[in-house]
Amino acid sequence: MTDLNGAARLTFLGGAGTVTGSKILLEYKDKKILIDCGLFQGLKQLRLLNRAPFPIDPSSIDTIILTHAHLDHCGFLPVLVNNGFKGDIHCTYPTKDLTEVILMDSAKIQEEDAARANSHKYSKHPESKPLYTTKDVIRTMKHLEGHELHEWVIIDENISFQFKNAGHILGSSFVELKTKDKKFLFSGDIGRTNPMLLYPPKRIEQADYVVLESTYGDRIHPKTNVKMELLSVIEDTFDKKGILMIPSFAVERTQEIIYLLYQLIEEEMLPPMKIYLDSPMGVNSTNIYNKYHDWQNISNFEINRMYNDIHYIMSYEESKAMVQDSNPKIIIAGSGMVEGGRILHYLNNHLENERNTLLFVGYQGEGTRGRSLMDGAKEIKFFGEYRKVRCEIRSISSLSAHGDQEEMLNWLKGFKTPPTTLFLNHGEPHQADTFRVKIESELGWDVEVPSMNSTFIINDI
Ligand SMILES: [Zn+2]
Repeated sequence: MTDLNGAARLTFLGGAGTVTGSKILLEYKDKKILIDCGLFQGLKQLRLLNRAPFPIDPSSIDTIILTHAHLDHCGFLPVLVNNGFKGDIHCTYPTKDLTEVILMDSAKIQEEDAARANSHKYSKHPESKPLYTTKDVIRTMKHLEGHELHEWVIIDENISFQFKNAGHILGSSFVELKTKDKKFLFSGDIGRTNPMLLYPPKRIEQADYVVLESTYGDRIHPKTNVKMELLSVIEDTFDKKGILMIPSFAVERTQEIIYLLYQLIEEEMLPPMKIYLDSPMGVNSTNIYNKYHDWQNISNFEINRMYNDIHYIMSYEESKAMVQDSNPKIIIAGSGMVEGGRILHYLNNHLENERNTLLFVGYQGEGTRGRSLMDGAKEIKFFGEYRKVRCEIRSISSLSAHGDQEEMLNWLKGFKTPPTTLFLNHGEPHQADTFRVKIESELGWDVEVPSMNSTFIINDI
């Protein structure tokens, strides 16, 4: 390592040129700080990076700071702990609780996948090993330290930071980090201008170096009335005496759907259909939403009531019985992109019946079953057998936890002075580049789009 001579260095170890694997290394004086520690997901060439040697010795990292609990921001933590990381992992209190739920689920999936590969012997390797296990997650959780928003955390006499609300999922936050005389702002993922459950992203007036995500840097979300869209799908399914199946992400999207259903019930608009949340991870996440009222922009009255009309299914036996039942109802189950979880059993049993409806309420990644179904596939394989797609397929596309181009640009306009450099990460190349051109032309700022493992020396510190 070259001597920095009082300069700082930023290295983008993930979430650069892609939306997953977020990891930013900040080196300053004698400290190495990692902001986010995400898992690479999606395409195989990305997933293989999770197994590659880490570019620096994990034991040399002093501190990790997490912006939020999504797997692409926290899912690599157990690997670093297994490989010698010994420091603290700082995050907000809700992020700490949600990280445990998300890492445990991730470890279980990896354990099951490895066990299945070994039993079928279809792995090219002599033995498939999970990237990490539930035991590794328990060990990792001991490093996590929760904080309030706006609480200054002192790393040493040169470095301190605080969390500021990002409005993306419960507990999500920007990291505002100060060195002796410069300020860095790491956005993590930034939420909508008006999130459904959370407070809007905090306006920031000044920072010398800003790292901003760019997932929707090239798009504008459609402006539609999601509550009425949801109602129309429910009414149509009710008229057909069918089952409405909603694959949903366990964190934030599930609670948003529950909130919309609660509003429809309060307004006496919802047809008499029972509502079930059949997802242990969704139920665990919902309990955490129920614990942190103050972190949400809806009233205590609403939070206390919105979860009461839902039937929660945890046990496998109860879920199995519900899957066999063909009475009209609303089922919310994971996983959000129909790649795993209990939604597979519902679709396996009810996809071939035209009375039923499958409703997508979130982004469907390329190569997933969810994307195939949205794109009009005529048949889909579940548990080794093809099922004909006869049920109705609907989608609500305007629900998103990420700010779009217009919303992020408006947030940037809150800065009173331009940063020295704005880095755009967490985006596919065309998303980041479209957004870079837009910012350069509208704001005239200096914008960099870092590629994977690129390094920037910041001299004037
Ligand atoms: Zn996120």
